[in-house]
Amino acid sequence: MTKALQGRRVSVIGAGIGGLTAAIALARRGAQVTVLEQAPQLSEVGAGIQISANAVRVLDALGLAPALADHALRNTGVRLHDDAGRVVLRMDLLRHRPDARFLVIHRPRLIEILHRAALDAGVTLRLGQRIETPPEGLVIAADGLRSPLRQHLNGQQVPFFTGQSAWRATIPDAGADQAVAQVFMGPGRHLVSYPLAHGIRNIVAVLERHEWQDEGWSHADDPANLRAAFAGFGGPVPGWLSQVRDVSIWGLFRHPVAPRWHDEGMALLGDAAHPTLPFLAQGAGMAIEDAWTVAACLDADPDTRAALARYQAIRQPRVTRIVQAANDNARNYHLQGVKRRAAHGVLRLADRFAPRLMPGRFDWLYDYDPMTDCP
Ligand SMILES: Cc1cc2nc3c(=O)[nH]c(=O)nc-3n(C[C@H](O)[C@H](O)[C@H](O)COP(=O)(O)OP(=O)(O)OC[C@H]3O[C@@H](n4cnc5c(N)ncnc54)[C@H](O)[C@@H]3O)c2cc1C
Repeated sequence: MTKALQGRRVSVIGAGIGGLTAAIALARRGAQVTVLEQAPQLSEVGAGIQISANAVRVLDALGLAPALADHALRNTGVRLHDDAGRVVLRMDLLRHRPDARFLVIHRPRLIEILHRAALDAGVTLRLGQRIETPPEGLVIAADGLRSPLRQHLNGQQVPFFTGQSAWRATIPDAGADQAVAQVFMGPGRHLVSYPLAHGIRNIVAVLERHEWQDEGWSHADDPANLRAAFAGFGGPVPGWLSQVRDVSIWGLFRHPVAPRWHDEGMALLGDAAHPTLPFLAQGAGMAIEDAWTVAACLDADPDTRAALARYQAIRQPRVTRIVQAANDNARNYHLQGVKRRAAHGVLRLADRFAPRLMPGRFDWLYDYDPMTDCP
């Protein structure tokens, strides 16, 4: 095996989940990595995140399992409900994939874990560095949805509003040692909730709207607006929403998957290359997979352009499929009228008579092992 990254200087732009994971993966292979982040300090939105088995495999391979064990909960299943709170479909992740670990974690904790591991691997982090044009040398651009470096490779592109907005909130929780992600589906809206470690419950509530006129991409909102939008929902939802004290609302924007991910010395990674709707909980997961693969391809081939071309060839078809599946979920979660009754009826039948059918539909997503790429 070639060790083409040994001693090589690499700049990673952006210290989000993708950039920090890439920094660790590159440094573990002997690269001298500097992360350049525009923010004056590392921060993440105070919400939860689901990390599915395909991405947990990478975090484990990077030696993060012990830290994750302290701060993440194992996600054992997904339960779909209608807006009245009645169960539509249960997907038992443990029974279908007993050896795979699906996790939920508070985002700031995940960033802390990645930051600590990056420092331990010898990565240098420089804050307050906004990068508009690629620096000299090998560059990994993990600078998110509004990436200037994506534009450098693909020309001027403005992210489009997807017609969806999302409230994010956390509330106190009794404390759990495992999580089930519950999804409540109503016409034109849905709400996802799961417990996190350390007595917190995460809530994401998505509402279709025609346009996003508010200034900026997110802002604090009045919890009364969230409660009003989900007023008709039953089950545990009213009790959860009554506890929300602080909430922020996000306009969900994206680009198509970038046509061009690299040139001879720079590659895009994560949301910079392929922002997605969050309805399959895969945006960070894809960034984590990218991070492993770009490091593995660069290490395996001293010809940087060829290595980066191989990285794009491996990653682009997979992320395109994932982004499409997330778009499909957006449609299926928000159905109305006859279509909704028919779809829920089919899912209830599958729940009763073919419980392995629906979890099996996502084998291609969750059973994927990025470690088999660019070995
Ligand atoms: C409501 C919601 C729920 C979600 N839930 C999940 C989930 O459960 N599971 C999941 O896998 N994904 C989820 N996602 C998606 C996930 O959050 C993103 O896909 C992921 O965080 C992208 O990581 P990234 O590192 O590519 O980009 P970012 O997290 O956007 O990081 C980019 C970094 O680059 C920095 N930066 C930007 N521009 C510059 C510049 N010019 N110079 C220097 N630094 C710069 C930024 O400050 C930032 O730190 C969700 C998203 C939303 C909106």
